[in-house]
Amino acid sequence: MLKKNSPYDGLFFDIHGAMSVVGLDDPEGDFIIRVREVVGKKTIISTSMDLHGNVSWRLAQNSDLITCFRMAPHEDAMLSKKRAVDNLLSRIESGEGKPAYKAWIPVPILLPGEKTSTRVEPGKSLYAQVAPAAAQEGIVDAAIWIGYAWADEPRNHAVVMVTGDDKEKVTQTAEALANSFWNARSQFEFIAPTASLKESLDMAIASNKHPFFISDMGDNPTAGGAGDVTWTLKEILARPEFKSAKGPSLIYASIPGPEFVAKAMELGVGGKIDAYAGAAIDARFAPPIKLTGTVEAIVQGDEHAETEVVVKIGSVHVIVTKKRKPYHEEVDFTSLGLNPRKTDIVVVKIGYLVPELYDMRADWIMALTPGGVDQDLERLDFKRINRPMFPFDKDMKDPDLKAQLVPLSDDGVE
Ligand SMILES: [Zn+2]
Repeated sequence: MLKKNSPYDGLFFDIHGAMSVVGLDDPEGDFIIRVREVVGKKTIISTSMDLHGNVSWRLAQNSDLITCFRMAPHEDAMLSKKRAVDNLLSRIESGEGKPAYKAWIPVPILLPGEKTSTRVEPGKSLYAQVAPAAAQEGIVDAAIWIGYAWADEPRNHAVVMVTGDDKEKVTQTAEALANSFWNARSQFEFIAPTASLKESLDMAIASNKHPFFISDMGDNPTAGGAGDVTWTLKEILARPEFKSAKGPSLIYASIPGPEFVAKAMELGVGGKIDAYAGAAIDARFAPPIKLTGTVEAIVQGDEHAETEVVVKIGSVHVIVTKKRKPYHEEVDFTSLGLNPRKTDIVVVKIGYLVPELYDMRADWIMALTPGGVDQDLERLDFKRINRPMFPFDKDMKDPDLKAQLVPLSDDGVE
């Protein structure tokens, strides 16, 4: 497609940065090199990323402008993309072309997003330094990547990059940001209380604050979890407190189960259902779960889920979807006839709560559940990330955080 419309003055390369492909170490680096092979060396490529993405040297070299979000949760996602496009257009229109310098600093830190939110310290103060750094004369943009913690590749670590035309300022600014990050490393903590699932449920049941949110963190699909791990739901349904309709009300959002949904549609609302859901992708922690209850709602037309079914089991409302869907907004619940504000406990496959859920919570705990994005990083078996790495190597020495100047993309595709 690129070949068909070439040549190009500029290209907006909009990626997350944490694509994982079995057998490849740097799929996004491979991708931009393929793009370069088509568009050539002259085209200015402006790369825009999630701060949880990874910046390999190859990605840095083949990008002329590069930036990422400055907020987690990513309330500035569109602003960041716009900045990447604005900078691209301005460099083309002004004739300034590619920035002369790109400083890259790998920071040997690997932390989960749930410890590095910019809502709280030290993430808040660290990321507050980025916009003023980027606004300096001689600098085009500055960015800090937390990196992605649930892959096992040499590129999984934090990175600082600064681009601009003033060599001193570019390198000094990058080094200042990298040092701020390194110096704050020990202060990163989970941004909300965490506990085992059992403790989380005990707390939620005993609490007088409702709705009490529980994050089913280990299987958060927006972090890279399969989203179909049944372990948490199995544990919930096994609790005696929820066995009767008079028990504490609980919404479980959600579990994919296309066969379950098909059966519910045959039975209709009010039908008694007995069918399996979940664990089609990630069955490592629990097998597909048998859900026996009453169909409360069937809603069609959601762009992600396609069909959503609510099944009532004891005092639990389980949302089963045809396709995986993240539940991030109040309307995701109310459109199914559920009222999360009037529900005792709401369990969501998520890490930190996105703004709409955060504003709704009366209380909240993040459960350290198993899954593809297990937040207890120290129990994971990393083999291929660079070492030493904070926080795994407790006594590691201070790393060399000197800025490395990345060759311009004109210098060849590598
Ligand atoms: Zn992210």
